[in-house]
Amino acid sequence: MRQRIAIIGAGVIGLLTARELLHRGHRVVLVDRAQPARAASWAGGGIVSPLYPWRYGEAVSALAAGAQEAHARLSTELLAETGIDPEYTPCGLLMLAPADVAQALSWCEAHGRNVERCDVTRVAQLQPGLSGRDALWMPAIGNVRNPRLLRALLAMVGAHPGAELAWQADVALQAEEGGAVLRVNGRAVDCDAIVVAAGAWSASLLAPFGIDLPVIPVRGQMLLFAPRPGLLQRIVLHEGRYLIPRRDGRIVAGSTLEFTGFDDSTTVQARESLFASATAMMPALANVPLETQWAGLRPGAPSGIPYIDRVPGTHVYVNAGHFRNGLVLAPAAVSVGVAQLLGEAPPVDASPYAITAPRGQDLV
Ligand SMILES: Cc1cc2nc3c(=O)[nH]c(=O)nc-3n(C[C@H](O)[C@H](O)[C@H](O)COP(=O)(O)OP(=O)(O)OC[C@H]3O[C@@H](n4cnc5c(N)ncnc54)[C@H](O)[C@@H]3O)c2cc1C
Repeated sequence: MRQRIAIIGAGVIGLLTARELLHRGHRVVLVDRAQPARAASWAGGGIVSPLYPWRYGEAVSALAAGAQEAHARLSTELLAETGIDPEYTPCGLLMLAPADVAQALSWCEAHGRNVERCDVTRVAQLQPGLSGRDALWMPAIGNVRNPRLLRALLAMVGAHPGAELAWQADVALQAEEGGAVLRVNGRAVDCDAIVVAAGAWSASLLAPFGIDLPVIPVRGQMLLFAPRPGLLQRIVLHEGRYLIPRRDGRIVAGSTLEFTGFDDSTTVQARESLFASATAMMPALANVPLETQWAGLRPGAPSGIPYIDRVPGTHVYVNAGHFRNGLVLAPAAVSVGVAQLLGEAPPVDASPYAITAPRGQDLV
């Protein structure tokens, strides 16, 4: 049966949920209290893998497992649908001087991931210009140009006759006897289900239902370098900081991890620290123009495990808390969320993403 589903939040999770529902013949009402596609999903780096995948539990790995193929397919489909190319690029990832090599190798073997131990000479073949260190090379990992991914999703959803959109809207979600009511600009929205996909801001939307969702904002700042095209060909990672090559030659350098509440401003301190990390990885960047700096708020959740579940006794669903991996996890997380909405079997066991599922204390 054709449903009408309201989605709160036009980040990668909300937009991809809208796209999947529209493709399947449902109607969507997608609302955002700010400009769409400008929050964490825009600010992120677009690396299509958890940074050190072996440091996460199986709940995250299960959603990340098919992410390369899913993003490659999504990029191709969105280019055909909208003419906008999200530029998924399987450039590979070089992890310089990793601390936990044995753990990394055994995780890769157990999870069927390609990995190669490289000495300094091999590293220089794969990516000239790095300061000499050994590395682990994971050739299958790619990156997606997330601002373009979002632009494409927005174009697809916006052009679809089954979608109603409201941006910079006054959005209120209230608990009511036997369920919930969503009001947008003061008017109640008639819908079969409501999806909370509001990223770092999701907890306050669930508070009226007596749910204390432990999703908190974790600021990340980034730099953008504008070198000659071709300087960087691979994603490079060292001590939690990374360089990401874009197809036009630009290099994204990230990122900080800061607990500053909902403040998404940039700081001089972060610029200096990111610049130091970037030039330590690739000394030539010291002479490259710095184009811009930005910040975004990740939806931090314990153990990095998102909440994908139904609020008990309501027609409200949540898909939030993807923390550092929302772009990686989005295709699978959205498939799980949509299956829950439509009463279908999810593609992976959804029990680890339940609101009440046990999680560790730490964010990662
Ligand atoms: C610096 C940085 C680097 C990152 N790098 C990567 C990476 O390389 N790979 C990766 O996979 N992930 C990365 N991430 C994480 C990833 O970006 C996030 O996990 C993901 O974008 C979260 O998507 P989302 O749709 O849940 O939230 P968002 O993109 O934040 O979207 C939430 C939307 O909800 C709206 N909203 C909020 N409250 C309300 C309300 N009350 N009513 C209506 N609308 C509301 C907001 O305006 C916003 O548009 C990075 C994040 C940052 C900040």
